[in-house]
Amino acid sequence: MRYNLLPKEGTFYKANLHTHSTITDGKLTPEQIKEEYKKQGYSIVAYTDHEIMIPHNDLTDDTFLAITAAEASVKKETPATEKAAIEKTYHFCLYAKDKTKTVYPIFTEKKVPAPHTRALLTEEMLQTDYSFDYDIESVNKAIALCNEQGFLVSYNHPVWSLQNYTDYANLKGVWGIECYNHGSWISGRPDTVVPFDDLLRQGERVFPLATDDAHTIRDMFGGFVMIKATALEYDTIMTALEKGDFYASTGPQIHELYLEDDVLHVSCSPAVEIMITTADRYTPSTRGYNRLHTEADINLSLCKKFAEDELAHTDMKPYFRVTVRDEHGNCAYTRPYFWDEFQK
Ligand SMILES: [Zn+2]
Ligand SMILES: [Zn+2]
Repeated sequence: MRYNLLPKEGTFYKANLHTHSTITDGKLTPEQIKEEYKKQGYSIVAYTDHEIMIPHNDLTDDTFLAITAAEASVKKETPATEKAAIEKTYHFCLYAKDKTKTVYPIFTEKKVPAPHTRALLTEEMLQTDYSFDYDIESVNKAIALCNEQGFLVSYNHPVWSLQNYTDYANLKGVWGIECYNHGSWISGRPDTVVPFDDLLRQGERVFPLATDDAHTIRDMFGGFVMIKATALEYDTIMTALEKGDFYASTGPQIHELYLEDDVLHVSCSPAVEIMITTADRYTPSTRGYNRLHTEADINLSLCKKFAEDELAHTDMKPYFRVTVRDEHGNCAYTRPYFWDEFQK
């Protein structure tokens, strides 16, 4: 039996899911952002301005889709003697399944200080004034509220946010996590896949993201996702994102991915290594091929056996995920595939 791990039908659409425009602290207008990304072969941009949700459906056409989104945050209150530069913070992007949304449930008016942004606030937006704190219960409640009201929630740039395991242990309900944020990379605080695997080992079903978090042209075109879907239409793309019909990347492309008789087949752009990561230490890979390769068949039967014999008795949901690394060190990351998705 063959399981297609990325949909067989459809087209890959290149997307940047994290962008700031002149509506808040970005340097480019929403229109300029569209033009720059289109020039580089992107079809989708999520406009994630800080603390305000402004749809840009007027920019959507046959070749481009604007996703309605916002980036919400909460800072750890620090004593007056401490500097803002060491303040921990949670940042989340909220992606609206309904493209017309301007209201999201954790909107806070006081987080919108700039006059040019405040000028865009509407009566409807101001009816919500939600406050939440920098503690995991309060944060999880805010995320649950967003999920209930039709938003996919991503957990952004933990490294830039000066966060570690103590901050994301027991984080619940996030749909995605940034394994790569180009702005953070440029500012010398590169994210990693460690929090991603930590959340997976906590039993969370969470998907990897690579984004730009672009504020200016300088931090564009570094991290992206390739979404496979049958049409460049809002609902179709949001459903594909929610299901995990995409991979994240800083360069390499994955063309085909399927599992057949416990053998994983990968076809991709030239790679120096194709690696499997699981909840345990078992990491089969093409390490040692010592040549660029564009295909691999990797037998996962031992990985499956360990998952069934050992991990099934723990709180973990046994999974495997795939990383394709190219000769420049750039990586593509698939979502985790959980063994219980496949028939025994
Ligand atoms: Zn952020
Ligand atoms: Zn941002």
